[in-house]
Amino acid sequence: MSGAVHQISYDCSTQLVEFAECVSKVSGTRVSEEDLLLSGYRMMALDRSVEVMLQDRGDSKESPIVVILYDDSDYYTARRCKVPSCRASHTTHRCHLCGDEDSDHLPDHCPRSTVLYHQTGHTAAMAIKASGKMRRGLSGMAGPGIYFAETPQHTNEKARGGSGYMVTARVYLGNSKHVYDPCHETYTSLKAVGYDSVTIQGRRTGTEYVVYNWDQVKVLDVSTA
Ligand SMILES: [Zn+2]
Ligand SMILES: [Zn+2]
Repeated sequence: MSGAVHQISYDCSTQLVEFAECVSKVSGTRVSEEDLLLSGYRMMALDRSVEVMLQDRGDSKESPIVVILYDDSDYYTARRCKVPSCRASHTTHRCHLCGDEDSDHLPDHCPRSTVLYHQTGHTAAMAIKASGKMRRGLSGMAGPGIYFAETPQHTNEKARGGSGYMVTARVYLGNSKHVYDPCHETYTSLKAVGYDSVTIQGRRTGTEYVVYNWDQVKVLDVSTA
C-alpha cells in the first residue's frame, strides 16, 4: 500500500474523527485523527472529494504518514460558524444558553442572557468551580431550582445553601413567569406552559430569578463574597 492514492469524498461538516474513520476504511489502514492533524488537515468545501495518499514507514509498526492532496483550484475558504473567535471545525455554533442553533456568540457573551448572582457555601462553591455547573437546590420559594439575585448585595438575605462564596453567572431567563407568592415549578411544568424561568417579585429582599436547567446557566466566576 506504499504511496497508494485513495480518492475520498468528504464534506466539511464531517468531524475529524469521522474523516479518520473514512480514510481508514477506504485505505484499509488504520489512520488516527492525530495522523490527519500532522498531515496538515484542512477543512474542505461541502461534497468535495480529496485524494489521500498513505506512505508506510517501512518496517515501522507506526501509523502511516498521511498526505492529503488538495486541489488548490478548489481550495476552500472555510465556511465556519458565525462566532469570530471560535476555532472549532464546525459550520454552526449552538449557544446552550439561549438555544440558538446557529449562534454568532459564545455563551459568555450571550446577548439574550442576564448577569446574575448566587451566594453559597464553601463545598458547593468548590463543586461549581470544578464542574462549571450549578445544580438545582432541593427546595425554594418556587420549587427545586437554581436561584439568583440581581446584585451581589441581594444574595445576602437569600443564601439558603450557605454563604461566603459568590457565583457570578450568565443566566438565560427567556420567557419568565412572574409570581408574587410561593409556587412549585419544575422544568417540565414550566415548559408545558411555555416558560423558561420564574421571576419572584414583590419581595423585601429584591427580585429573585429561578431556572431549572443548568444548561441555562453559564458560570462566569466563583470567588469569596
Ligand atoms: Zn463555533
Ligand atoms: Zn445565546
